[in-house]
Amino acid sequence: MAQQEDVFKKIVAHAKEYGFVFQSSEIYDGLAAVYDYGQNGVELKNNIKRYWWDAMTLLHENIVGIDSAIFMHPTIWKASGHVDAFNDPLIDNRDSKKRYRADVLIEDQIAKYDEKINKEVAKAAKRFGESFDEAMFRQTNPRVLEHAAKREALHTRFSEAMNANDLAELRQIIVDEQIVCPISGTKNWTDVRQFNLMFKTEMGSTADGAMTVYLRPETAQGIFVNYLNVQKTGRMRLPFGIAQIGKAFRNEIVARQFIFRMREFEQMEMQFFVRPGEELKWFAQWKEWRLKWHKALGLGDEKYRYHDHEKLAHYANAATDIEFQMPFGFKEVEGIHSRTNFDLSQHEKFSGKNIKYFDPELNESYVPYVIETSIGVDRMFLSVLCSSYEEQELEGGEKRVVLHLPEALAPVKCAVMPLVRKDGLPEKAREIVNELKFDFATHYDEKDSIGKRYRRQDAIGTPFCITVDHQSLEDNTVTLRERDSMQQARVNISDLHSLIHNRVSLNALLRKLK
Ligand code: ATP
Repeated sequence: MAQQEDVFKKIVAHAKEYGFVFQSSEIYDGLAAVYDYGQNGVELKNNIKRYWWDAMTLLHENIVGIDSAIFMHPTIWKASGHVDAFNDPLIDNRDSKKRYRADVLIEDQIAKYDEKINKEVAKAAKRFGESFDEAMFRQTNPRVLEHAAKREALHTRFSEAMNANDLAELRQIIVDEQIVCPISGTKNWTDVRQFNLMFKTEMGSTADGAMTVYLRPETAQGIFVNYLNVQKTGRMRLPFGIAQIGKAFRNEIVARQFIFRMREFEQMEMQFFVRPGEELKWFAQWKEWRLKWHKALGLGDEKYRYHDHEKLAHYANAATDIEFQMPFGFKEVEGIHSRTNFDLSQHEKFSGKNIKYFDPELNESYVPYVIETSIGVDRMFLSVLCSSYEEQELEGGEKRVVLHLPEALAPVKCAVMPLVRKDGLPEKAREIVNELKFDFATHYDEKDSIGKRYRRQDAIGTPFCITVDHQSLEDNTVTLRERDSMQQARVNISDLHSLIHNRVSLNALLRKLK
């Protein structure tokens, strides 16, 4: 674990050093849980967004996009339940003055029991070697059973407290489990209070008073309140989907783990409107499609898992997360929810407008049911970055840091380098750049030794380096070097475009999805 934390620190440092992610307002000592994307980060982020957008809107003829405003009528958040219920339970430690999410403290405690069980299993596996029957051991070993029973009891008590919104009970669990503050090491806890995660601001400045508006905590509501506009103007028939990418804001109590939990972040959400009764079929379908989208990137199939929700939000009748193995454990990257007709019905009620869909086949009107897929751009970015980062020992004791980014997502696709800065090589290299730049993000680099230039490109994940040497002037060939294998091949300049295109185009990635 400590080793993983070390790696994570290195990734964070690498992201800064190579222009991927900077702390916001750094020269003013930063703003907690807010980050800026640098010259390479923005390209990687845009490529992730493009991959998602195209997978939704190009590959599904019944999905279209919108771009709704961040500010919306405040009653929308009343209707959606965010004003009353978008809360996290918070607790303070009086000694360290640190603030925690009570639910997270308890979840960490549950994870500790799991760790204890896994340690017993690992110990026994080592002792018994080949003949070890893990399933049998888990079912019969007294120490494992004892930990498992405690874990189960805690889990049940925790779920009941969360469902009942019982803040006193959450505090009591923390006390009974003897959970201590990781900073002060004491159990000197305050009461648990609800904390609303929405940012508020004021709109207008008239004498009759300004209106309180919220920065949206999710993009989905912009889709719900526009669904009938899109359906009518686009002559859409059920089932159909609306996709949107945009900023969302949450005043997270505890912001940790770099861009995993931010106060300003970006979401890619798609609401799929279906006939009542068909939602679970579509839920299963979207679960499958979304995992396929992730796996097509080739980050490693074993790094994903579904986490089906046992405790459902009151409006949902099925929900799952797609979790990704980050250096700090399996974590939610995307949520897929069957939200029933809750949101649309609420908007019908609060707005007083009829927003039913007329189904020409059934000849009846109803409020559609909704399947939502919701993924954080920044978390996706983090999963791509973490799984791509590698420190490699090369032959001869040399080291390199390389980002094995999926080629279609790489910020720079190819770098063109004259071997030396004379003899007409720079001019020849520029000619190549001037051809390739219309289709690919292409860098020109003539500074330092060729080895150093390769390392720089490896560090930002550039799939191809093209080296122009004296032979290039004679026969129009160059050296094409691959990032991952570091293999070099002599190729014709006229073949460069198609060679690169075949590997880095989004098209090839999208084709894997069908
Ligand atoms: P969590 O339990 O981690 O707070 P959530 O269940 O509240 O997440 P959703 O409301 O389902 O998250 O949001 C959908 C997606 O938006 C998440 O899967 C995640 O990728 C992203 N997301 C949510 N909150 C944040 C945040 N504070 N920073 C970055 N991304 C976020």
